[in-house]
Amino acid sequence: MKPVKNHIFKPESMMMSYGYKPELSEGAIKCPIFQTSTFVFKSAEEGKAFFEVAYGIREQGAHEEMGLIYSRLNNPDLEILENRLCLWDQAEACAVFESGMSAITTVLLEFLKPGDLLLYSMPVYGGTDHFINTFLPKIGIHAIGFRPDMKSGEIDELVKKSGHADRLSMIFIETPANPTNTIVDISMCASIAQKYTQDQKVLIAVDNTYMGPLWQHPLQHGADLIMYSATKYIGGHSDVIAGAVLGNATLMKRVKTLRTFLGNMASPNTGWLLMRSLETLKVRMEQQAFNAQKVAAYLAAHPKVEKVYYLGLITEKSASYEVYKKQYTSPGAMLSFDIKGSEKEAFLFLNNLKLIQLAVSLGSTESLAEHPASMTHAGIEPLNRIEMGITDSLIRISVGVENYEDLIWDIQQALDYV
Ligand SMILES: *Cc1c(COP(=O)(O)O)cnc(C)c1O
Repeated sequence: MKPVKNHIFKPESMMMSYGYKPELSEGAIKCPIFQTSTFVFKSAEEGKAFFEVAYGIREQGAHEEMGLIYSRLNNPDLEILENRLCLWDQAEACAVFESGMSAITTVLLEFLKPGDLLLYSMPVYGGTDHFINTFLPKIGIHAIGFRPDMKSGEIDELVKKSGHADRLSMIFIETPANPTNTIVDISMCASIAQKYTQDQKVLIAVDNTYMGPLWQHPLQHGADLIMYSATKYIGGHSDVIAGAVLGNATLMKRVKTLRTFLGNMASPNTGWLLMRSLETLKVRMEQQAFNAQKVAAYLAAHPKVEKVYYLGLITEKSASYEVYKKQYTSPGAMLSFDIKGSEKEAFLFLNNLKLIQLAVSLGSTESLAEHPASMTHAGIEPLNRIEMGITDSLIRISVGVENYEDLIWDIQQALDYV
């Protein structure tokens, strides 16, 4: 973001206009949906020049803009959206995808090769876990998981014991973890990565979906790549599936090149929807976090609740307090809790909610509740699942923008059935 008269606008002030030139679209104040597959060149020479840059045949000139060619390579709705997403994380470049899973899998496929070792935090999103543990082994990529409470030395041991320490290529982190809200120290992982870096940098990739682009900025803590399911806070209205990856220009050129050939970019319509969502990102998320703090406090005091897992309830005595203070600017709007009892009690609660909807996904304007053990994390082997804290009594809530008194009323009356 360049200063205007020495003033730098905050990202939320830029979400309505940044990167869009009305004069290129008949003066329309909003970026139209460029629902087009291809773009007309002014001349054959121009077409040639655009392709030279796109295919890396020559370096882009200092004042040369990347020309529009074909919507699998670039499209105004995607480019403007990507430029706006860069502002929140202060990243050099961004690529948007047709889903969070395509963002994550493209990163893993681009930066890992047969024989490499991937180290990842546990638990990770169910889809990510599946790709790491069932697809990557088929192409000869080894993966080992570490628990969020492990110290640097213990992780070191794990890497050494794997027998592939010399091929460690990436550390993949999901923090806070879904659905337990456990947190991982990104800068500690960056130090581990440095230790194992030989010719090629061991990359740190962070799935930042749970905190959205607002409350955790992984690049500032030593991460190289950030991934989002834009389906969640970025989209924020439960009406679109999308993903994003951010990082420096060199790494992102590789991500975008693989995206071009996998063809898993977002559509112009998705780009347009996400631009609309970004205008209210901060007000939505701040209201959601405000509501979540009220809901968490209510649950923590309720006699039918065993334990609440929420960043706002981490006390100074806790081992993760320092990491929480260093890495997060808000406790966020995702919480989970163990109800006293088991699956039966959890289901009774879920089946009796009147306002909060029973659905997976998160980060949307409406509050959502689900049962991780039998829904989002049903694919994890039961013993592992329980070791990760995903018990039969665990309920996850994504807090929305409703009036918090209505949310608490709903939770109270549903708990009365238990
Ligand atoms: C939802 C989610 C994903 C997958 O994103 P999709 O947009 O559904 O493909 C990845 N990581 C986390 C943490 C998620 O919550």
